[in-house]
Amino acid sequence: MQGQEKTEITGLFVFHLAMSAAPPASMFDTVPGYEGTLAGGGGGYLPPPMPTQLILGQRCIDFSLLCNRIPTISEDRARVALRAYVSSKCCYSSGPVDEGVITSMETFNTYRYRLETFTESRTSEWSNEPYTAQTVDAGVQPAPGPWQIATKPPTFFQDQKQDIKVPYTSSVKNCHKCLGMGRGPCTACAGAGNKECSPCRGTGHNQTDDRCIHCSGRGRENCSSCKGQGNCECATCRGKRQLLVFINVSVKWTTEKDNFVAQQSSGLKIENLESVTGKQLFQDTQYMLYPVFGFPDVSVAQASDRFLKEHQAKYAQTSRVLQQRQTIELIPITKVNYMWKGKSYVYFVYGNEFEVNAEDYPATCCCSVM
Ligand SMILES: [Zn+2]
Ligand SMILES: [Zn+2]
Ligand SMILES: [Zn+2]
Repeated sequence: MQGQEKTEITGLFVFHLAMSAAPPASMFDTVPGYEGTLAGGGGGYLPPPMPTQLILGQRCIDFSLLCNRIPTISEDRARVALRAYVSSKCCYSSGPVDEGVITSMETFNTYRYRLETFTESRTSEWSNEPYTAQTVDAGVQPAPGPWQIATKPPTFFQDQKQDIKVPYTSSVKNCHKCLGMGRGPCTACAGAGNKECSPCRGTGHNQTDDRCIHCSGRGRENCSSCKGQGNCECATCRGKRQLLVFINVSVKWTTEKDNFVAQQSSGLKIENLESVTGKQLFQDTQYMLYPVFGFPDVSVAQASDRFLKEHQAKYAQTSRVLQQRQTIELIPITKVNYMWKGKSYVYFVYGNEFEVNAEDYPATCCCSVM
């Protein structure tokens, strides 16, 4: 496993050198624990040490009390929701809301299971900055391993990023870009110090054949970027001639999420439920979670088991799992059947927000009222 990763990283390294001429590999010291660290991004991830705790088992909760409360809405509430929906559409007429008669209402509540895994991952890369008498400490002590560097972790489930200069990896090198000169050819004029006069486009005269006042007929003007010198301060070392070269470890905290919505037969598409919240029945937050067990809807328990295995396989190899959170929500869905002008129609009211979906609404254009 370890050997394979190294080969892969070495392959990337060769590729990187072929793509950009600078900086050369000779610029970087070998730092134990950071072999294969690249310059300029694309550094390999650093596999975390194995967790010391391994938790096995299942969590058994009595869900029967939680799930027995089935929320329903009144006809008035269903009508208010439809009215709000219709008034949010600029062209819909309220005729069906005012005159329509609700014939039946059916409840199709469903469950949403969500698993969130809060991870920390670390990558390393060689970085540099202009040398301005910073501390130079390479070799003073062995560098701490990438996972030994202390960080200030954010609150769980709040994504964040932090860059850390690895102690005992900083050394001073001549700037590879300007070869230690502190200046380089001006890119605006390719080092010439002057360029084509823009008002006369290099002809030396204007449209009426008079001499160009701007360049006095020379056809060229001084380059403003380098003030005619042909060279500029080196952007890499900002003219300091030397660079502080060090390993940067980039720490990223990320919340990985997966949602599962149990099947329901109302006819409302599951995608519609993404925008609403439900009533929270259960939430469990721990370092490593057990799958929920004993939930009345078997598909929810299966989703919990599956997501936990998937998250373990996906994230535990490349990052460190700091915390997991699983939530079960009950999402209310009411199917409302109503009659208007002798025809029957359907709409749905769903979520804590009383969102409405009314695909067959019969008055979607103002003129259809007549
Ligand atoms: Zn000119
Ligand atoms: Zn120039
Ligand atoms: Zn330079």
